[in-house]
Amino acid sequence: MTFNRHASAAPVSTGRRSLLRAAAATTALVGTGLGAGASSAAGTSPARTPSTPRTPEEALRELAAGNRRWRTFHQRHPHETPTVRRSLVAGQKPFAVVLGCIDSRVPPELVFDQGLGDLMTVRSAGEVLDEAVLGSIAYGALELDIPLIVVLGHQSCGAVSAAVQADETGEQLPAHIQYLADQIRPAIDHGQQGAARIDSTITRNVSMVRSRLAADRDLAERVATGRLAIAGARYELATQRVHVLA
Ligand SMILES: [Zn+2]
Repeated sequence: MTFNRHASAAPVSTGRRSLLRAAAATTALVGTGLGAGASSAAGTSPARTPSTPRTPEEALRELAAGNRRWRTFHQRHPHETPTVRRSLVAGQKPFAVVLGCIDSRVPPELVFDQGLGDLMTVRSAGEVLDEAVLGSIAYGALELDIPLIVVLGHQSCGAVSAAVQADETGEQLPAHIQYLADQIRPAIDHGQQGAARIDSTITRNVSMVRSRLAADRDLAERVATGRLAIAGARYELATQRVHVLA
């Protein structure tokens, strides 16, 4: 069980309760293997609307099911058929925004086994936020009414590693890369050393980015009414498992 803990916009109790319910539901469904069957079987139906996740809970459940398919080598590569492609000409209704790293080993559509029209993915090194990233996420949540935002960090993140090394050595990185390091620096865990520091910083960076999103007024309003959840998560390269962070 991977999606066993969920976090919402910290001060908003409604969102937290909502996600805790999702955790219970996710545990039950994934535990019995039911979670993989509901919404994205073979991608043969153009009328996906009834099965597309509409709530934060349903969206988390589908991502958990998809990651389970992925890490157990049962991926379906859903929603790639000619019928689906034609149906998507008229519009899109993705059910989750995933803010992930640029790392080539962590493509959100693959690690969550989703297809065309399912995920709105925003990627920047180390999941670093800037105005374009924030605007892209806001577009998904506010204009497309997407019920779930996932900040997805990952094991062995090069961007975080570079930021930690630059902090330790005082080395000045090339301009645009230094911007990334500057954004990640507040998350550096000085209570750890070496590889443990990098690994801990990866987790802390996800939490920091998630907190910044949760503090956004427009997003927080949606979280307060239960229409949106914002979760932080990590992908482990070794196990291909995604787990939600507290
Ligand atoms: Zn990375």
